[in-house]
Amino acid sequence: MNSDDIDCKKCDGEKRILVPIKPAEDEKKVFILVSQVPKEAYNKKTKKYTYGGREWKEVLCPRCNGRGTELPNKNRNNSKRGKGFERRVGADFKKWWQQIEPDCDFQRTPSSGGSALAEGWGLYGDLCTNSKTFPFHLECKLEKIWDFEDFFTPKGGRIGAYIKQSLADCPLGKIPMVIFCHPGPSQRAYVMLVVKHEWQLFLLAILEAVTQNYRNFHVTLPCGESSIFAVVLPLETLLSISPSAWRDAGAALARGLGIK
Ligand SMILES: [Zn+2]
Repeated sequence: MNSDDIDCKKCDGEKRILVPIKPAEDEKKVFILVSQVPKEAYNKKTKKYTYGGREWKEVLCPRCNGRGTELPNKNRNNSKRGKGFERRVGADFKKWWQQIEPDCDFQRTPSSGGSALAEGWGLYGDLCTNSKTFPFHLECKLEKIWDFEDFFTPKGGRIGAYIKQSLADCPLGKIPMVIFCHPGPSQRAYVMLVVKHEWQLFLLAILEAVTQNYRNFHVTLPCGESSIFAVVLPLETLLSISPSAWRDAGAALARGLGIK
């Protein structure tokens, strides 16, 4: 540890905090420090804490990613790294989609006005494109804190948050896609396609149609009154599938929604 490091303001340098197992809708920010809770509160078998009349679980502090310390410079590097990831993914998608639309381009979405990108670019998501046929809404996440284990927690953990955000930000007629990866030189990037449950069969049919030889991981998560369906496959697998099948599928989806 460097002497310039300062304890994280949220976890106080403890790295892990306790969050309610069943938080109410309006108390997402409720947490307590592990040290505030007597040792007897912890149940070794269930790995849960019982304190103040409710149950808590230990999670990595989301503010410092479990480092315990905050480093302003490090954060700057994180943001730089995230941008580099977006650029790399954008270049991958450009190369892929140019097979069927040679003039298309993909760029990082500018965060504020005064952008050099002209009309015809849908400026939403982390990556934007001038393609008229690209069916996906793209969000990029280069973070340490997601885990495939998230899928098996009631609310989906960090990956659940990605799903929620992609659904909320996705324009009608596009398919939300989250590209997520752990930081590091040899980490595999994954894409997750997200659909409301009604579209599950549609998405599976597309996957069947576009490739006879894919492996994926899919899961259904509760989402309010309905449920959502997410398919995960490696980015390289997606990019090995012909884009034209996805273009046709996107057009069919838009027609199904009465958009074109
Ligand atoms: Zn912290």
